[in-house]
Amino acid sequence: MKLIDGKALAANLRGEIAAGVARLKEERGVVPGLAVILVGENPASVSYVTAKEKACAAAGISSREIRLPETASERELLECIERQNDDPAIHGILVQLPLPKGFDEKKVIDAISPEKDVDGFTPVNVGRMMIGEPCFLPCTPHGIIKLIEFAGMDLRGRHAVVIGRSNIVGKPVAALLARRETNATVTLCHTGTPSIARFTREADVVIVAAGRPGTLTGDMLKPGAVVIDVGVNRVADATSARGYRLVGDADFASCAKVASAITPVPGGVGPMTITMLLWNTLESARNKSLICPIDARG
Ligand code: NAP
Repeated sequence: MKLIDGKALAANLRGEIAAGVARLKEERGVVPGLAVILVGENPASVSYVTAKEKACAAAGISSREIRLPETASERELLECIERQNDDPAIHGILVQLPLPKGFDEKKVIDAISPEKDVDGFTPVNVGRMMIGEPCFLPCTPHGIIKLIEFAGMDLRGRHAVVIGRSNIVGKPVAALLARRETNATVTLCHTGTPSIARFTREADVVIVAAGRPGTLTGDMLKPGAVVIDVGVNRVADATSARGYRLVGDADFASCAKVASAITPVPGGVGPMTITMLLWNTLESARNKSLICPIDARG
């Protein structure tokens, strides 16, 4: 069984992105700028935002951190997004989700200009992705496709099973897998699917994004299948100084006995999500319009 090392792939890609950022600065005097907006102080969100800012700095991308208190009004947040939309030094806008109670996430995402929507969450980008137009691909699904390629798997003609149908992971990754250039046959499972194992046992690759530890176990896999574990779950662990440890949605021990390759948690999908955010920010700075060919980092 092979571990699919998301950290190693992310490090390679971040090196390429940093080189692209340096070239853009040298040739056109443009420094990619990412506005990172955080409302409130949810500890997980604070640590995600910190990680994104560090990654930006390492790649030479300028990040602008904007923190609003939990008591901020939705109008203040929308005005803040509007200012970033209008600022030519900003090429990407990220609003860290989830937002505190009382904010209408859909309205907030809709306020981001599609041309700066480096998370790929606005309806314009989602729609363009579905019809195969140039767009910002959502970071986690795009990172997953890169990881599968990195694992050496040719998806053409293969059966991919996705567990989870969220707008940020399950649905878009299923759409990317089914694109003509990827050409996998896709089954999308969710809580309404009776006997998920019936499908996963026939899968060449299983992508599990349910947010529940143990959703996928070794007895649900075909021997030699590839497992991409998207889940990030905290489970209590008295032996850890933090009092918890992170686990995925796949039961690693049993899946590792049957799979040919699996992503670890942490160190699999997570580093790729941030990497694809940097990628999209560079693409946005490089292209003055929404035209951003998926594999044209130059
Ligand atoms: P989400 O919005 O909660 O969606 C979870 C999906 O999984 C839902 O569609 C749900 O089905 C389905 N589901 C839940 N339990 C299931 C079960 N037992 N069997 C089958 N389907 C089940 O979660 P998300 O935002 O997609 O995130 C999923 C996980 O990935 C979370 O652990 C999250 O932290 C992690 N994540 C990681 C990254 C990263 O960069 N590493 C990025 C994003 C998310 P219904 O629709 O029927 O309710």
